[in-house]
Amino acid sequence: MSFTRRRFMTSALTGGAIAAALPTSAFGQFLNAPRHGLPGSLNERYAKLDAILREPIFKRSLFPDPVIIESVELLLRDKQYICRVRSKDGHEGISVSNSQQMEVLYPIFLKRIAPFFIGKDARDIEDLIPAATVNENNYKSQGLAIWVPLATIEFAILDMFGKMANRPLSLLISDKVYNPTISVYQANGERDITAEETIEHLQRDVAISHAKAIKFKLGGRMSHPEFPVGRSKKLIPMVRKTFGDQMIISADANGSYTAEEAIPIGKLMQEYKYAFYEEPVRFDWYEETKRVADALEIPIAGGEQEPSTHNFRWLVANGGLSIVQQDMFYFGGMIRCMQVARMAHAMGKQCIPHISSTGLGYVYMMHFVSCIPNSGPYHEFKEFNNVLPYHCETSTLRSSEDGVIKVPTGPGLGVEIDPDFLKKCKVLTA
Ligand SMILES: [Mg+2]
Repeated sequence: MSFTRRRFMTSALTGGAIAAALPTSAFGQFLNAPRHGLPGSLNERYAKLDAILREPIFKRSLFPDPVIIESVELLLRDKQYICRVRSKDGHEGISVSNSQQMEVLYPIFLKRIAPFFIGKDARDIEDLIPAATVNENNYKSQGLAIWVPLATIEFAILDMFGKMANRPLSLLISDKVYNPTISVYQANGERDITAEETIEHLQRDVAISHAKAIKFKLGGRMSHPEFPVGRSKKLIPMVRKTFGDQMIISADANGSYTAEEAIPIGKLMQEYKYAFYEEPVRFDWYEETKRVADALEIPIAGGEQEPSTHNFRWLVANGGLSIVQQDMFYFGGMIRCMQVARMAHAMGKQCIPHISSTGLGYVYMMHFVSCIPNSGPYHEFKEFNNVLPYHCETSTLRSSEDGVIKVPTGPGLGVEIDPDFLKKCKVLTA
């Protein structure tokens, strides 16, 4: 295949250019998200979730022969951190990491994570990831420090297997594709501006995108006082009145409140028919999260900071979250994310994975969303990488006029990085 610069033109999308219209039924889909009435007793729910956690995810049976990992390299160019895994038999997989995080975490990748995989059979990926967390006491660094490097390696290994089996990533961790396209919504991430300015910015973006779904920020983030004072209480009704009854609106507090503060904010959101309420209290205030959920009808979403499968088990079994938002990188890759999605599904909950904006995160998220049965009706789009030259044969990776993006169907990630770019990368060493 010949590669040209034209084919590998980098994307120059703006946030406004990709947000899009959604079916009006999406609002109903959120309102119907089960919140209360969990199945069975708590012990029965835990037993069910534990059985789910024992079920295999990776389609190992597709690969009858050992695939021994010969090298795990970390490449760097233009602040892009790229992982290249090669097998002894000459197979190769590539992943693009979350470069914003990898810029500070790459020594952990090189010294503590990558060496563990050398010489291992990649088909054991499902066991290798938990083993790598125990190796060298890496679990003491649980959080982004180990999960981002592990996700980066897992994505490269899955890319390699996808190319070997001529399957997209999704069909290495699921029997079927449920969502060949992904509906997107647009978010405003600003705080410390007035309610009126927030409305202006939302109107500006919606005028460009004709979006039918929006999300904005509440409170001051992680218990910091909000500025201007009273912004959230003013904004919640104002956004509804400005954008009308058909707009799908949700809001994210990023852990701004105590439970006592969060509940009246949630009641105001209910009054104005908001779709979901994200991180009302700090992400690791589990009992308080449940207390807020119990006091409200609006679905509570959360989990983008959560590092622990066991904590997600508690949150879904006890009704803390109606929508799980595990991050594809921060939670350590697709296999761990699938465990959370399956647990949520068993409890009648939805999954809207979180993804940060660097690298090609949205592409990994699209593959994941495509193969879960309990995906939420729409997902945040966080601009494609504007530095990396890449090409996708099976999708424009852009939102169509009806607000959906087609998930790539090519082998592995389905996105190729310009080989010239890869050649010019520096190979990092420990
Ligand atoms: Mg959030």
